[in-house]
Amino acid sequence: RYTGPYIGRFAPSPTGPLHAGSLVAALASWLDARAHGGRWLLRIEDVDLPRCAPGNDEIILGQLARCGLLPDEPPVWQSRRGDLYAQALQRLVDAGLAYGCACSRKDIAALAPPTRHGELVYPGTCRAGTGGRPARAWRLRTAGAGCIEWQDRRLGRQRQDLEREVGDFVLKRADGLWAYQLAVVVDDAEQGISDIVRGEDLADNTPRQVFLQRLLGLPTPRYLHTPLVLGANGEKLSKQNGAAALALEDPVAALRAAAAVLGLRLSAGDLPGLLAEGVAAWRAMMPAIEDPQSKESP
Ligand code: GLU
Repeated sequence: RYTGPYIGRFAPSPTGPLHAGSLVAALASWLDARAHGGRWLLRIEDVDLPRCAPGNDEIILGQLARCGLLPDEPPVWQSRRGDLYAQALQRLVDAGLAYGCACSRKDIAALAPPTRHGELVYPGTCRAGTGGRPARAWRLRTAGAGCIEWQDRRLGRQRQDLEREVGDFVLKRADGLWAYQLAVVVDDAEQGISDIVRGEDLADNTPRQVFLQRLLGLPTPRYLHTPLVLGANGEKLSKQNGAAALALEDPVAALRAAAAVLGLRLSAGDLPGLLAEGVAAWRAMMPAIEDPQSKESP
């Protein structure tokens, strides 16, 4: 559990410029930080460098600045923080909590039925060793993880049977890239993040992250997952399904639309006025945060 000062963050993956959906997450995390007198940090999540076209990071920083969402510290880039992730993986391997895996996707698909999200639950082939095959990826043991319970400030009590629903998940990929789950947990702790505010599409990653925090002896932040913006087809707006980059000729209009998704009706006509109105409205709408993780089950 996190007991320090409020530190929030926005952590975009620069696979494209911000779109209407990512602005909602950015705004919510900024509002929550400001409403709690906290700090707000920016982290560029470019571990999957091949999917991050150069220049998107600067575009995103520019888009945020145009909306008046300015970080309190210089941003950090995950692609420059590999040493931290390597140290964390080494600790898990040394403790027998992570293991090398020699399986290809095909090997896994042959043995594992897909889960409801279409992902594969790793059948555990290499848990006791790779049988002399070279390790391609590194996985976390979830046997015995049990049911991970966590509290979301908007969604309420959540639970997931990690071993059954997710299985031993990847920490370092076969192509040598660090997995999001490991990088995000290491960085949130290293940056002292007390509060994670992000889109609801990420909610089902939270149990993996909470489990990793526990194994690494790191505090669990508070979580708030925000509503998603749906496209015309009713699907979540994402870069993958071609969401248009935010048009920021009119940042006030873009922010008003993002605020509306969060349930805030803002009327100020200028940027500073709108942001101040947003902070006050957020404060009035959100229940006070006091130790939502303290009812954690043992
Ligand atoms: N980088 C992730 C994304 O843009 C968000 C990570 C997070 O907020 O934990 O989808």
